[in-house]
Amino acid sequence: MKFTLPPLPYSLDALVPYISKQTLEYHWGKHHNAYVNNLNRLIEGTEFEKYSTLEDIILRSDGAIYNNAAQAWNHHFYFEQFSPKAKHMPSGELMDYLIRDFGSYSEFEESFSKMASAFFGSGWVWLVCDESGKLSIEATQNAKNPATEDGLRPLLTIDVWEHAYYLDYQNLRSDYIKAFFKVLDWSVIERRF
Ligand code: MN
Repeated sequence: MKFTLPPLPYSLDALVPYISKQTLEYHWGKHHNAYVNNLNRLIEGTEFEKYSTLEDIILRSDGAIYNNAAQAWNHHFYFEQFSPKAKHMPSGELMDYLIRDFGSYSEFEESFSKMASAFFGSGWVWLVCDESGKLSIEATQNAKNPATEDGLRPLLTIDVWEHAYYLDYQNLRSDYIKAFFKVLDWSVIERRF
């Protein structure tokens, strides 16, 4: 198999009580894994077999290949930003940019949470950076990755597909969003920035 499921950088029960072991078993072990396996199956015998990174495929494909490649990328990006010993606040240059573009850290968190809470359907909400360094919040439907739309560089993301939170929070998406910020490790986001 060409692409493989990246391991989680923490144990399955490391994010309890915010994200349960069962959610990670399904969300990473089954959903994320299925996107990787589907992609491998779909690219067999196509021009996409020659690419070694998901980004290469995302930027050139559409339809089912795009959807599975983008979901594989998005999920890896999502899972690797959590830690049981999360740094809860950004600092340094990233904090300066958040203050410049949103007014304060709490105004950023509030706007991001509002957009994630109000998002209709399945998709992702992102903090992105444009070519000039300006930060903004973007929402994308289904598998869509902001890098393929306007060349925006993702810095952090929340998965708002129901499979990301339904086992733990059922219909209470806003509780999931609050829990997300308890395990989001800003040191990872600072490295990406
Ligand atoms: Mn997901």
